Amino acid sequence: MTIENSTTAGATAASPIDAIVVGAGFSGINMVRLLRDRGFDVLGIEAGDGVGGTWYWNRYPGARTDSEAFYYCYSFDQELLKSWKWSERYPAQPEVRAYLEHAADRFDVRRLFRFGVRVLGSRWDESTSTWAVQLDTSEIVYTRFLVSAMGILSAPNAPEIPGVETFEGRRVFAQQWPDDVDLTGKRVGIIGTGATGIQLTPVAAKLAAELFVLQRTPHYIIPNRNRPMTDEWRSQIHEQYDQIWEKVRSHPFAMPFTSRGLMGADATEESLETIFEEGWANGGLAFLFETFDDLLTNPEVNAVASEFFRKKIREVVHDPETAEKLTPRDYPLGAKRLPGEHSYYEAFNRPNVHVVDIRSTPIVEFTPKGLRLQDGTELELDIVVFATGFDAFSGAVSRVDIRGRSGVSIAEKWADGPATYLGIAVHDFPNFFMIGGPQSPFANNPPLGEAEGEYIARAVEFARDKGLSAIEPDLQREQEWDQLVQSMTEGTVFPQGEAVNSWIVGANIPGKKRVVQVYFGGAADYVNRLNESADTGFPDYVVSEIVRN
Ligand code: NAP
Repeated sequence: MTIENSTTAGATAASPIDAIVVGAGFSGINMVRLLRDRGFDVLGIEAGDGVGGTWYWNRYPGARTDSEAFYYCYSFDQELLKSWKWSERYPAQPEVRAYLEHAADRFDVRRLFRFGVRVLGSRWDESTSTWAVQLDTSEIVYTRFLVSAMGILSAPNAPEIPGVETFEGRRVFAQQWPDDVDLTGKRVGIIGTGATGIQLTPVAAKLAAELFVLQRTPHYIIPNRNRPMTDEWRSQIHEQYDQIWEKVRSHPFAMPFTSRGLMGADATEESLETIFEEGWANGGLAFLFETFDDLLTNPEVNAVASEFFRKKIREVVHDPETAEKLTPRDYPLGAKRLPGEHSYYEAFNRPNVHVVDIRSTPIVEFTPKGLRLQDGTELELDIVVFATGFDAFSGAVSRVDIRGRSGVSIAEKWADGPATYLGIAVHDFPNFFMIGGPQSPFANNPPLGEAEGEYIARAVEFARDKGLSAIEPDLQREQEWDQLVQSMTEGTVFPQGEAVNSWIVGANIPGKKRVVQVYFGGAADYVNRLNESADTGFPDYVVSEIVRN
């Protein structure tokens, strides 16, 4: 970070802005609103040219929500909840982006953002208790508080494949889909079969002349059963919104699902089958929470459910060899985040669609004409799409050169795994907060982000009201939080140790320390902890008084 050679943008160390919020997705828009409404002078910085965050960048064909829109939205604005008419159960990316543009205007925060500007780094200055924030415009902006709303899944994972410079076709990252890419009539390869690849594949299958889906690990996938939202359905939802948000607030993944109160361990073979069929017919993530309460904790029940998913693949995919390749075998249902599908398996019944098992025959290199596999096969391709996921949770923050009180960067501090307090604040990094930081829960993002935003706004307000120059978590609290996070997956099917390659443990990024990055104690429990900390006056933080001469 070359602070010395930069110019300042209005705010100086002597007269800093109150707060900078980085990111204009669901959480960033709301964070700016929350701080502005409390009377703070706030600047939002966003690398994209508009609001939307994930919904600004992820424009690949087929991108849509995997959560139903009626609860994947802001919960606090009654008028917005009533006036915004989602067209589908799982709306497509342009509609979610339009919603966020509308919300940003409605909250009147768009004018508080600078768009098309990236934060490169930030350094804490102990003498002035400010953050010097380095922008890619060569400017430095000084701020008292710095809030990351950069997203949990925003820093792309870009695997290095030798020979890329020789490839004569086009290489595209799904998460940064260029507007001028058209798959029509092309020979397309998609690397990656996570939620992104699963959404892209059926759309690409209809456009491409030939589609090769390069799969390393098959996923368990649930049909989402998308359908239009009718006026009748909307009015039912509107009437029930109080109960819906109440359910969201008490659910471990912040979703309005209702447990049946049944344990698979007590069920007969027949009733297991019947209830799994109902969950399958209903579609979506509810399967995990509205079938059996021990689905994610009892290995025997989970094994029956996993086999149920395998059977469903065989029922849809005509060619047994293809069906077998698409079948997950060596890890339990739920250990990776369950993606929803829209005719994914049906796509493999088309003659132009081929699954390529790159676990047994890995990609060796790019060639001028396409990709060469280990067995010598050369796939001739016009376009290679990387749907290879993200450097999740810690990735976005640690890719920015943020240096705290001691001068150590956050990336250095997290070299052996993230260390945070509540996934929100970091010892040695005063006046710095994260929404969706590592060691926070993985849950329905908009309502969880609201709770985190409220907490941060209360912390900033607390510092102002008490005349504090700096507030940072106590080191012991941070260490205790780490121990709690690491212990939380015991007794569940969630990834433990080497069991599952997933972004949840950072296993998808070469060289990244494999540790659980997510607080699995549940969103409801987590929000209670946030409230307790704020309600009791942030006793878990170390504070510095403003020194007045
Ligand atoms: P992902 O789940 O991490 O999947 C990435 C895929 O790329 C995996 O199949 C992975 O294989 C493969 N891959 C990674 N590195 C590779 C390499 N070097 N060579 C070959 N294959 C490689 O990423 P994602 O699909 O983008 O989804 C990430 C998360 O984003 C999801 O779990 C979800 O939370 C969120 N998301 C949500 C939506 C939605 O709600 N609408 C849509 C997209 C994404 P392995 O499995 O073998 O590692």
